[in-house]
Amino acid sequence: MAEDSFDLVVIGGGPGGYVAAIRAAQLGLRVACVEKDATLGGTCLNVGCIPSKALLDSSEKFAEVGHLARQGVVVEKVSLDLPAMMAWKDKAVADNTRGIDFLFKKNKVERVRGVGRIAAPGQVVATGADGAERTLSTRNILIATGSEVTPLPGVAIDEQRIVSSTGALALSAVPKRLVVVGGGIIGLELGSVWRRLGAEVTVIEFLDRITPGIDLEIAKTLQRTLAKQGLKFRLGTKVTAAAASDAGVSLTLEPAAGGTAETLECDVVLVAIGRRPYTAGLGLEGVGITLDRGRVPIDEHFQTPVPGIYAIGDVVRGPMLAHKAEDEGVVAAEIIAGQSGHIDYNAIPGVVYTWPEVATVGRSEEELKTEGVAYKVGKFPFTANGRARCVGETDGFVKILADARTEKVLGVHIIGPDAGTLIAECVLAIEYGASAEDIARTCHAHPTLNEAVKEAALAVDGRALHI
Ligand SMILES: Cc1cc2nc3c(=O)[nH]c(=O)nc-3n(C[C@H](O)[C@H](O)[C@H](O)COP(=O)(O)OP(=O)(O)OC[C@H]3O[C@@H](n4cnc5c(N)ncnc54)[C@H](O)[C@@H]3O)c2cc1C
Repeated sequence: MAEDSFDLVVIGGGPGGYVAAIRAAQLGLRVACVEKDATLGGTCLNVGCIPSKALLDSSEKFAEVGHLARQGVVVEKVSLDLPAMMAWKDKAVADNTRGIDFLFKKNKVERVRGVGRIAAPGQVVATGADGAERTLSTRNILIATGSEVTPLPGVAIDEQRIVSSTGALALSAVPKRLVVVGGGIIGLELGSVWRRLGAEVTVIEFLDRITPGIDLEIAKTLQRTLAKQGLKFRLGTKVTAAAASDAGVSLTLEPAAGGTAETLECDVVLVAIGRRPYTAGLGLEGVGITLDRGRVPIDEHFQTPVPGIYAIGDVVRGPMLAHKAEDEGVVAAEIIAGQSGHIDYNAIPGVVYTWPEVATVGRSEEELKTEGVAYKVGKFPFTANGRARCVGETDGFVKILADARTEKVLGVHIIGPDAGTLIAECVLAIEYGASAEDIARTCHAHPTLNEAVKEAALAVDGRALHI
């Protein structure tokens, strides 16, 4: 094969693209991955999951130290070294992104630096920072170009006073007053970080609830818990304008349904109203691919309407989550290599990494009602879990929704300590088509938080033991 000839060229080195490249290489394909940014890992590793979780952990520890006296651990004076906290986060990012370079070398994936453009089916042109072009011939192309921040009309992001999630991950000082526009996952996570570090945080949400899409009972509990931590919520409210000055930002708010405008002053505004697929400069129109509601259209085999051109991750339909992009990357690579593959989109967990965490999988109660499915509910609170009492984290509960007749698990919704880890067995249960009885009959180690999952499964049949 000639030097610039490949079996697969992946455009985008985020969790979808880099995982697809590695899997395809494992299956014996000659693979190149074109990435425009200086480091691999995409949104997730550079400005998303990894830096946000580093700051969530550091700020959690900072806040927790103040509560340790009740457990007999007396810390005399706690102070914040924000530059050191940011350096810790930056190191986590650098270690992870360098890890992808290592994995590419190990698997013989060729990394091509530059902006990738599809010149024709089977041809990708990569343009480097110096303008030099390299043409790659390939049997298959995989688009994994991800997403970008959705802008808010009337509110210009300058990444200083008015920031996106990227700016909110790198503030040089704790703002006195932070306004978060958008009560979704990213807004609540980053709002939590800065609240724990001392900011007064107000969340403005257009809808009459936070975390749209998440089971309503869980969302309401999360809002109450975050309010106890000091976050303020303005629901049913829209931001229509923002004026930044050296003194701060003046925001114009209106009721979502229309009405009298008011002004809210703050020091920093975080715009977190969502993300949208990123396809700028990809050349899609030139090869006959028309976006479907902003997303690259694909069939069930991740193929676009053009044979040999595939797409995965944030740029296609479905939840914008790193693990969804990764799983699609694996399956798409296997399909391109001639194997078959399938993803159960009902078994993709979603986690909000606030404290307590929220983790969900499968159907919410609202969805089951809309679909007319008869279901039973099993609930168990962490106040009745021995381990949660030991560690002083008793906020929240596990809720299992099971088919009324067969008790097949249809959805699991957890708010509580380490919910993001606890959900794994519930995802497995849904993937395997397990019943609540299957979970209830599985021996769970004692004392663990996971016992709350087992008890919720018992509660589906009205026989929880510890409540
Ligand atoms: C603050 C924040 C926190 C998040 N936290 C979580 C979390 O905890 N868990 C979770 O599951 N998800 C989280 N996400 C979402 C997650 O980051 C995305 O779902 C995930 O990164 C999508 O992966 P992807 O590979 O589709 O795209 P991306 O990660 O966006 O990667 C796309 C890559 O393609 C490159 N690219 C684009 N166009 C071109 C081109 N023409 N040529 C070359 N390269 C190109 C980009 O530079 C980028 O590197 C978070 C996002 C944010 C912003």
